[in-house]
Amino acid sequence: MSQKEFEKRLKQVFEYFHQTPELSYKEYSTTNKLEELLKAENIDILDLPLKTGIVAEIKGKKDGPIIAIRTDIDALPITEETNLSYKSKNLGKMHACGHDFHMTTILGAAYLLKRDEKNLQGTVRVVFQPAEESSHGAEEIIKTKALENVQAIFGLHTAPDLEVGTLGTNVGPLTAAVDRFEIEVTGAGTHAAHPDLGIDPIVVISNIVTALQTIVSRNIHPFNPAIVSVTHIESGHTWNVIPEKAYIEGTVRTLNEKDRSLIPRNIKTLAQNIAKSYGARADFRWHEGPPATNNDKVWTEVAIRVAKDTGYKVKIIPPKLGGEDFAYYQKKLPGAFVDIGVGIGESLHSPKFRADESALLKSSEYFRNLAEQALIIIKEG
Ligand SMILES: [Zn+2]
Ligand SMILES: [Zn+2]
Repeated sequence: MSQKEFEKRLKQVFEYFHQTPELSYKEYSTTNKLEELLKAENIDILDLPLKTGIVAEIKGKKDGPIIAIRTDIDALPITEETNLSYKSKNLGKMHACGHDFHMTTILGAAYLLKRDEKNLQGTVRVVFQPAEESSHGAEEIIKTKALENVQAIFGLHTAPDLEVGTLGTNVGPLTAAVDRFEIEVTGAGTHAAHPDLGIDPIVVISNIVTALQTIVSRNIHPFNPAIVSVTHIESGHTWNVIPEKAYIEGTVRTLNEKDRSLIPRNIKTLAQNIAKSYGARADFRWHEGPPATNNDKVWTEVAIRVAKDTGYKVKIIPPKLGGEDFAYYQKKLPGAFVDIGVGIGESLHSPKFRADESALLKSSEYFRNLAEQALIIIKEG
């Protein structure tokens, strides 16, 4: 197959996935299609207890090292608002985070690696991970044996703030730890005409919301990016009753483990003590999401060198405070995560997001090159 034909094939695959988005943990037809596409090229599929998602393997030289390349495969509950000829056919669902682009890139890389497997210095595990948008799909893969003996892992995200032909990355975190908190304040309900007979939870929680704003400004090092946001507040149901309870929830974003453990402690202390000072009670709940991604220095340098050799313009980019569950893999083994430019346009998760298909071929070639080089580097020690 010529390079032109291969590119055409990639675009067909991309358009197919774009038209058939499925939500986290529901990626059944996507998984079937991936299986069909992998089998069409005689690529081995690992027998793993996964409901959705699939892991393939390309074996080169025996006794060689093992590395992994990873894509996510899920879409979002968004109604597409583009004019693309290959717009989503699944109403209310859309590949608005570019995971269709990621899948096509990694599938393309698998095809290219398979073609030249005789010269491959080891084994490449090709991970098609479910449910990235749920923040916990990576853990499904980690629970299986898919990453056994894997020495390095690489992944990508589409970047609508980078031109086609530009690749962005950096050593250290590229995305934040994404955690969630809830606080429920219990006061004492009463008649609105007799606040003296109750404990108003709305006043208490209002003080808590205000106090939480000081954590980032007063407790976090001024050069460390961090967020504490209350994003949901609820209490009461009418104008002449002081309710018994008030509720808030929100999100915390951090880039290092020290800040990540300090912030929930301070939220809890502030909430409980403020409530106590009013005679109320605050219950605090903390829900951990993925940690911050953590690009290994050595592998990021390799990723940058290979990007330049593949013809990418490389941009060193600052971290963002969005989340990415690739971070779970980087807790287990070293690796690098990169942003692939898909043309400047609407942001990720926008109903108008689109990834320029002309970025596909280079992206697939890049992951082929990166996998080959990673194996050579490990082998040569
Ligand atoms: Zn997303
Ligand atoms: Zn995404």
